[in-house]
Amino acid sequence: MKDDIHPSLKERKIIHIDMDCFFAAVEMRDKPSLKGLPIVVGGHPKSRGVVSTCSYEARKFGIHSAMACSKALKLCPKAIFITPNFEKYKAVSFTIQEIFRSYTPIVEPLSLDEAYLDVTKHNLYAVKIAKKIRQEIFQETRLTASAGIAPNKLIAKIASDINKPNGSTLVLPSQVRNFIGSLPLRKIPGIGPATEKQLIKQQLYLCSDIWAYSLEELIRILGENRAQWLHERCRGIDGRLVKSTRVRKSLGTEDTFSYDIKDYTKILSELSKISESVAKSLKKKNLKGKTVTLKVKYKNFKQITRSKTFGNTTNSFEIIYSEAKKLLQKTEAGQTPIRLIGVCISNFTETETQRSLFDIETL
Ligand SMILES: [Mg+2]
Repeated sequence: MKDDIHPSLKERKIIHIDMDCFFAAVEMRDKPSLKGLPIVVGGHPKSRGVVSTCSYEARKFGIHSAMACSKALKLCPKAIFITPNFEKYKAVSFTIQEIFRSYTPIVEPLSLDEAYLDVTKHNLYAVKIAKKIRQEIFQETRLTASAGIAPNKLIAKIASDINKPNGSTLVLPSQVRNFIGSLPLRKIPGIGPATEKQLIKQQLYLCSDIWAYSLEELIRILGENRAQWLHERCRGIDGRLVKSTRVRKSLGTEDTFSYDIKDYTKILSELSKISESVAKSLKKKNLKGKTVTLKVKYKNFKQITRSKTFGNTTNSFEIIYSEAKKLLQKTEAGQTPIRLIGVCISNFTETETQRSLFDIETL
């Protein structure tokens, strides 16, 4: 039944990216002798601290995140306990977030190693974007990540866990209902042990078990707020938006020359290179801007900017370069030696190119 797909599942393309046992993976990367060993990153085993992350080898002993370190030690006396180095993890996190933002401005980090991306407006298929992102993450950090690709946050988050480590899972709008139906209710983020207990009392184990219940019946079991929420979630419905925490206001490139340049032709050739790099970044980030700003720093460190705003947005190299050239004529370039030149685009609107989710269906 094709028309059975809930309309909200045709509106968005969401990717959830999650690094594989992140802290432990960073430690193993930096100290290869740790590879293949049960590693626990967290508090001291004799302290009241808890496990932040552990390697897959440690998981085989039943160790998991948020477990008391003393218990982890009991489960695996040979485990190697490592104190977290957050500065190091933050640096990696910064790198991966830059990669995310090179594909979409709508990125919502959930923690250092996890984020939702809304790629609805990107020209590429979401599956392809996820693959490229995972490749880039590996190239830049030598660490692996897993991805869930789906029409909403709920399904994307559950999906990224399915083929872990170093895997990805696509759930098409038409597959959402079956996908979630077969899962235990506790797989829904937000269902804790208490709610799970309540549901099990009613013989409810799988998401599909809820389908037989009317909203009214669920309200009697869980109360109004939780019932409405679960009624939607167990059908794979989730209207939450990806909330980006940073909105990019401008994008630019500048270049400080190795020596001050007075020759106008040389300056033009530098300006062309910079304009090209800006246009390339804009296209990669799916952005178009209305304002071009040229920045020039003279030999004596005096800096000036000149701007022009168009009627329409652009990310075209030709337009950016030709405008930057005109702005350059309003400076002392060619008469006074220049030590730095920059081009910046602002006044963004996202590009209009929008593929509907039906395109995912064709994959
Ligand atoms: Mg993770």
